[in-house]
Amino acid sequence: MIRENLEQTRKNIEEACSRVRRDSGEVQLIAVSKTKPVSMLQEAYAAGVRDFGENKVQELLEKQEVLPKDIRWHMIGHLQRNKVKYLVDKVYLIHSVDSLRLAQEIQKEAEKKQVEVNILVEVNVAGEESKFGSTAEEALQLIRKIALLPAVHIQGLMTVAPYVEDPEENRRIFADLKQLAVDIMRKNIDNVNMNVLSMGMTGDYQVAVEEGATCVRVGTGIFGERDYVNHHKGETI
Ligand SMILES: *Cc1c(COP(=O)(O)O)cnc(C)c1O
Repeated sequence: MIRENLEQTRKNIEEACSRVRRDSGEVQLIAVSKTKPVSMLQEAYAAGVRDFGENKVQELLEKQEVLPKDIRWHMIGHLQRNKVKYLVDKVYLIHSVDSLRLAQEIQKEAEKKQVEVNILVEVNVAGEESKFGSTAEEALQLIRKIALLPAVHIQGLMTVAPYVEDPEENRRIFADLKQLAVDIMRKNIDNVNMNVLSMGMTGDYQVAVEEGATCVRVGTGIFGERDYVNHHKGETI
């Protein structure tokens, strides 16, 4: 089932790209495997997936421990400062940096471990109160400050759009994030790249790709519905 879902997802991405004349090689598919057992990640790996997204530090580390070393791990969930130390030298990209304090903690731990850390700044484009992320208005200020941290490298922006029945309702949000990235890129800030736009989930990734996503985060569409019952019970960090 996972293999077929992946094929369908990749096909949908290609079709979305061709509708707007983009090269589908520009779009990275991240398989969001949170709550899913290792066996399902192995199945996805066998079908060619090398980018996995998790939203809990401990779960990411436990899975990383037992899976092949060529996997690129993406931290896509809200990150608490006290967990940064476990993560900085283990992830390929942190998508969810939404405050200077968090970025400073990443800097501190990166320095200790002598690593460089690639991050995205999470922007709450829709302005939803329940969501994490900097506001679009604050994003530039925040980025200017994070840019001064020598071991932290901003590669672009990320947003989590609202859950909607009709993905068209989120088109504007994706277009706004793209525009924000273009505006920031034009400022030519040292240590800031705007190459990555992480936007779009199972319900709306095709629209996100049409609006310029370079990274889509698809969970349900690959692994099926999530079951949260009994999940995270053994969490210790
Ligand atoms: C869970 C999650 C996803 C994947 O959601 P699906 O709707 O299952 O594709 C993507 N991004 C973030 C930040 C998530 O937490």
